[in-house]
Amino acid sequence: MKRPNIAVFLILMFMSGTLSGCLGEDGLDLIPEKKGIPGGLTLACLRSSMYTSMVIEIDHEPGYRPFSSSTDLLVERLESVCDKPSGISVDFNEVNFDHDGSWSAQDVRDKGWDAKDTSPRDGTTLYWQILFPAGTYDTDSVLGVAVDASTVALFSDSIDEADGPFGRPSVEDVENSVLVHEVGHLLGLVNLVYESPIDHEDDEHPGHSNNDDSVMYWAIESADVANFIFGSLPSDFDDADRSDLAGLADGSLPIRDQLWS
Ligand SMILES: [Zn+2]
Repeated sequence: MKRPNIAVFLILMFMSGTLSGCLGEDGLDLIPEKKGIPGGLTLACLRSSMYTSMVIEIDHEPGYRPFSSSTDLLVERLESVCDKPSGISVDFNEVNFDHDGSWSAQDVRDKGWDAKDTSPRDGTTLYWQILFPAGTYDTDSVLGVAVDASTVALFSDSIDEADGPFGRPSVEDVENSVLVHEVGHLLGLVNLVYESPIDHEDDEHPGHSNNDDSVMYWAIESADVANFIFGSLPSDFDDADRSDLAGLADGSLPIRDQLWS
């Protein structure tokens, strides 16, 4: 009775050898890592069972480094919702994207993955990436986009022109809010990978909040935001957003499209 067991064992050995070969450098092109949808790494952030630390990789073109208030605020917001006992840090890289013309979502995805320091899921660390490229999005009224489970871009050339009259809100205010907003999409807000029991998704703007006190309000990533919100912009999640995130974290709210399970 031992012979069949040995055969099975040898076959397993052979298969695992083949698999590790596929995951080598050459294999990455043959079996590309799944990029997922915005919200595909929500549980990876909210919970600490797989990833105990998190790095925000900022890839900016020369002259496009974000305000430190933006990245400080982002870390503060993430720390308030994600369980990362080993901490959340920010890693800045200066990158030349060498991109001509406007950016499409696919451009952001392609150039983003070329520039990533590592896989979004590396050991026990979760990596989310923010691009700050030169130039504008295809639709130049768009200030930021979330293109997959780990990649967002902010378009500073458009943000620079989205401040309000007399600088209220200022360019810095707009950048602060747009950054938290786009990363809010990576957290699955609003209804990207779940169905909220609270009616706070805007009917005309799917994936966005109908509350102009939430950073997930639909107008936040739009160049004419200063026409919709006078004075100070929201830069935090509201009670409904936080209730959704708490329900996803503790499992009481079902979630779909997760990359890690
Ligand atoms: Zn949005």
